[in-house]
Amino acid sequence: MVQRFSSLKSRLFLWYIASLLLMAFFIILIIHVFAINNGAYFLILLFLTLSVLGFTIIYKITKSLTYLATRMKMISSKNLNERILDIESHDEIGELALSFNELLNRLHEAFRREQQFIADVAHELKTPLATLRSTLEITLNQKRNVDEYQNAIKEALDETHQLSSTLKNVLDLAWSETPQEQKNVKRFNLTLLTEELVETAQKMAMKKKIVVSGNIDENIILFGFKDKFGRAILNLIDNAIKYTPSQGKIEISLKKENGKVAVKIHDTGPGISKQDLPHIFDRFYRGSSTEKIFGSGLGLAISKAIVVSHHGEIEVKSKIGQGTTFTLSLPLAS
Ligand code: ADP
Repeated sequence: MVQRFSSLKSRLFLWYIASLLLMAFFIILIIHVFAINNGAYFLILLFLTLSVLGFTIIYKITKSLTYLATRMKMISSKNLNERILDIESHDEIGELALSFNELLNRLHEAFRREQQFIADVAHELKTPLATLRSTLEITLNQKRNVDEYQNAIKEALDETHQLSSTLKNVLDLAWSETPQEQKNVKRFNLTLLTEELVETAQKMAMKKKIVVSGNIDENIILFGFKDKFGRAILNLIDNAIKYTPSQGKIEISLKKENGKVAVKIHDTGPGISKQDLPHIFDRFYRGSSTEKIFGSGLGLAISKAIVVSHHGEIEVKSKIGQGTTFTLSLPLAS
């Protein structure tokens, strides 16, 4: 019995019948008590009109809801491109269908991105693995001298280096995009972190005789994940060193600006072309003149994911032949 009336449809109709009975009872009562003879037809007509109106409204609501529920049940990961198109009303049910379609749009896009990412990872791992395999096979084909063996081992080592770096970056990207538990968010001193990173950058840049300078405001506190944030800045520093030719300059600054904190990494490197600029934060995107420079195209995607997870923004300004400036801006800890 309880089961029979558990649906909204049956409860609405039950309530409707009860209201009709109650209304009929009062109409009969009024006709008898006030001995209405002429107006009785009018009251009966009113009763019938209200009954038809009530029935139509309940029928329309339950029909749309049942249709919505059936369509929602039919949509799975295999037909995420389907949408609910047949509800055109602008009431709450129309809004529900619209919100559901918007949710599907977001899910579809996320799903498409994940599939693309898996395809890209597979592609990035396949190429160095194939090169490694053919290097080893060709070397083993015939007897070779020591120099040839050494060259083959060196080539194989380079490929394994590329493979492990890509794998590490893929894992780091997954780690950067995984939402962390908010209870683990901590206040940390960004001034100290940036000073440490400037020292690291100076050591890394020594080989290329690049001068690294720091311009850091005192005592800036941030709310977030120190390790992740350090990684976001380090990726930008690593790029600045990688792409700037010997004897160049890198400036790392940390400033408070309009209630926000800005970390800037400026280099005097080759700059980024207009064609590359809109894509550099995409996963696996490598600029057009980077063939000879080691990389996997994931560094900036990782930095962006970390900054966005800290409710911040990352932007780049670059001029060919003059250099590049990356700016990370984040809300200050209150
Ligand atoms: P990777 O450096 O491994 O190629 P990133 O995601 O770190 O991948 O960078 C994407 C692209 O952006 C690079 O391939 C390069 O073309 C460009 N880029 C990034 N930083 C700089 C920089 N400081 N100077 C010039 N080009 C840069």
